[in-house]
Amino acid sequence: MTSQSTTLSSQNAAPRDVHDLTRGELLELLAELKQPSFRAKQIEEWVWVRNARSFDDMTNLPKSLREELSKRLTLGGVEEVARQGSVDGSRKYLLRFPDGVSVECVGMPSRNRLAVCVSTQAGCAMGCAFCATGGAGLTRSLTSAEIYEQVMHVRDDFNTRVTSVVMMGQGEPFMNYDATLEALRKLNSPEGAGIGARHLTVSTCGVIPQIMRFANEPEQFTLAVSLHSAVQKTRNALMPGVRKYSLVNLYNAMGEYVNKTGRRPTYEYALIGGINDTESELQALCDFCEGTLAHVNLIQLNEVEGSKLRPSTPERAQDFVRALARVGVEATVRDSRGADIDAACGQLKQRVTRGR
Ligand code: SAH
Ligand code: SF4
Repeated sequence: MTSQSTTLSSQNAAPRDVHDLTRGELLELLAELKQPSFRAKQIEEWVWVRNARSFDDMTNLPKSLREELSKRLTLGGVEEVARQGSVDGSRKYLLRFPDGVSVECVGMPSRNRLAVCVSTQAGCAMGCAFCATGGAGLTRSLTSAEIYEQVMHVRDDFNTRVTSVVMMGQGEPFMNYDATLEALRKLNSPEGAGIGARHLTVSTCGVIPQIMRFANEPEQFTLAVSLHSAVQKTRNALMPGVRKYSLVNLYNAMGEYVNKTGRRPTYEYALIGGINDTESELQALCDFCEGTLAHVNLIQLNEVEGSKLRPSTPERAQDFVRALARVGVEATVRDSRGADIDAACGQLKQRVTRGR
């Protein structure tokens, strides 16, 4: 705390970003500048609700205060370095943070809704065989503000309210738990984006200790778990990063999650021809889900350049839907939005990096 306050008032230390200040630190700074404390609320509204791009935009603050703030603090500063638009209206963005690290996010509009998909890390350490992000390893985790700012960037670009957010971009949210949770809370808060907790979804590859932690959070956030196979050997090969969390333990953890929260989790299952779409794989998936509260999202694999893995056929996806229905489990085939814009996680980033 002491070193942080010094940073705020010192002339030669690197300025901190206003997003990273606690309410207490902001009040401390305002006191130092002999400003009334209600300014803190005004500043926070500009930062979190209106997504102001410069201190000079904060028109209800005295000019002298705006100047002082811009001398002492930075104000976010994601820069859009690439974008792609899909024929279905989706837009995918590559955003760069001030340290040069970049991540992807996607806006998916439909009628009066806008869903946003954000990244929680730049890269990912989990190394899933079918994932463009997994191939490149982890660069760094994002801060909660960096996760939040992606949503606001998309909101401002579409100029409409965001109705839901999924953390299904790059990275494993549960390997960056605290920042992810803080971002979820800010997205949920009326002093932030004001999005209902049920419309905020975290997708994890199955980091069991954090699933248990998540079950104990008071908010009704939604949980998706990337399953991709209910056969241990296949899952180990596809998702080496979660090898130590066995399917049996995952099954038990999800049982506890449902008991604790009463909420229905989603299992993500990308159908890969000849790998996890065989009869025995289907049977194992039915066994895993039967009698539990679950929804299965069947996804057509997005092909990743340089990978031998291929999507299975649409007919096979329908076989899965029917077989799951027979054991009382609802399944949907997710329409692969933005298939024409490198929508699979990590693909836009790969292309831009290669093009350099
Ligand atoms: N790390 C988290 C969230 C980001 S990945 C997780 O793994 O759940 C978001 C979703 O995209 C996951 O369900 C992931 O398995 C899926 N995914 C990754 N690469 C894919 C591809 N090539 N095709 C289809 N889905 C993919
Ligand atoms: Fe990481 Fe998720 Fe990609 Fe696996 S699928 S490498 S956990 S981002």
